[in-house]
Amino acid sequence: MTCSEPRSETTTEPSAEHFAGRGGDRPTAPRTSTAGLAPATLCAQAGHARDAATGAVVPPVHLATTYARDADYALIGPEYTRDQNPSYAAAERVIAGLEGGAEAALFASGQAAGQAVAAALVPPGGRMVVPTLGYHALLRQFARLGRRYGFAVDRYDARDPDALARTIAAGPVDLVWVETPSNPLWQVVDIARAAELAHAAGAVLAVDNTAMTPLLQRPLALGADLVMHSATKALNGHSDAMAGVLVTGQADETWARVRAERAQAGAVPGPFEAWLLLRGLRTLALRVGQASANALALAEALMGHPGVEAVLYPGLADHPGHAVHRAQTDIRRGHGSLLSILVHGGATRARRVASATRLFIPATSIGGVESLIEHRHTIEGPDSPTPESLLRLSVGIEDADDLIADLVQALDRTAP
Ligand SMILES: *Cc1c(COP(=O)(O)O)cnc(C)c1O
Repeated sequence: MTCSEPRSETTTEPSAEHFAGRGGDRPTAPRTSTAGLAPATLCAQAGHARDAATGAVVPPVHLATTYARDADYALIGPEYTRDQNPSYAAAERVIAGLEGGAEAALFASGQAAGQAVAAALVPPGGRMVVPTLGYHALLRQFARLGRRYGFAVDRYDARDPDALARTIAAGPVDLVWVETPSNPLWQVVDIARAAELAHAAGAVLAVDNTAMTPLLQRPLALGADLVMHSATKALNGHSDAMAGVLVTGQADETWARVRAERAQAGAVPGPFEAWLLLRGLRTLALRVGQASANALALAEALMGHPGVEAVLYPGLADHPGHAVHRAQTDIRRGHGSLLSILVHGGATRARRVASATRLFIPATSIGGVESLIEHRHTIEGPDSPTPESLLRLSVGIEDADDLIADLVQALDRTAP
């Protein structure tokens, strides 16, 4: 690593050892270890989160911003909510467990989580590499940070398996960013290969795993160092709380810098958002399974529709990333809830289809229980590289036949 910022006392949160043996003081202390539990169990039981004071099976929301010290002026629990809060800790424990990571840290949003990685790990004069296409707002923010703080942000075309290697080889690199499958074309990057390339160059590999969730894809097991999610999406799953999260494979010095960045920037969520996230996580396994089954049924049904030029879904055998996707995804649970279609008739038809649906709600975002349809080019703005005929579908947990019938009627009604 090329930059280092000592962790100041005020941004250091109490360690696991600090809490050890003081379970009674820790209001959401797990009753037993969660190690080895299957994802569905970890989710449903919210990692055994309990209120130790009352036995409540749902932990309280810890709204306190500050925490008292004991007679020796030692911390009893957390110090200050900008560093740590028991409501964050409960959700962080579940997400770290699902990703197979050592620790997790919640952020105010996915944007805040992604930005913290770049800000903490890429020094002025350094370099990060990012995909040409991916979640538009975060890629734009990386470019802005690079211009403002004086580091290079070089892009690779995720469709070309050699492009990542070439871009990394172009010079010293601090951070490699991967988003797979990437929003909204669902291009697939080989995570294990990216990890080899990043590590051979001495760089950290971070993977945006928002699209797949840890139920379907676990980047740390494939060699990634950090995993990022917009927890606003499927992890919470109910389109009612904004949060981001980072998970680390190891609680090392790199992680300490990322955590310090969160506290320094104050990029933390509200405790109630963390509590809503923990509540949403309880049904994650069920939601991901149902939404993925619905998405596959929809992808297969739309393939044959005369109004559809192409269906972009990694679960389809004709998708260019299908083989890599199969190799790095737990396809027994599904292929994810996200797909895009290219419609005949360009931007005009696409926007008309989005307005003609009765169940699919024309709105931005992904990963909720309700199905959404979006004309991505409109949202990304005039400089958007997204095809104008593209509609992004975030498939919810409604009945698959109802969803298929809805899109078919919208396509039929807008036929030229
Ligand atoms: C939504 C999203 C983000 C940004 O997250 P916010 O919570 O909206 O800030 C980043 N990456 C992906 C893939 C997303 O879908």
